[in-house]
Amino acid sequence: MTIPTFAAERAVPFYCPYCGEEDLEPEAADGGWRCRSCIRAFRLRFSGTGVIR
Ligand SMILES: [Zn+2]
Repeated sequence: MTIPTFAAERAVPFYCPYCGEEDLEPEAADGGWRCRSCIRAFRLRFSGTGVIR
């Protein structure tokens, strides 16, 4: 599996940021994910490329 560096809209979370489980499923077409373990829903947003300011 290849992960494009700048594919902001296709970023895939491997772990739930809240409980750490891997049981995630897409919730919406615009970057929403839902954790089936803790029932939390969240979105990923691309916020930069690591430029130090
Ligand atoms: Zn979770």
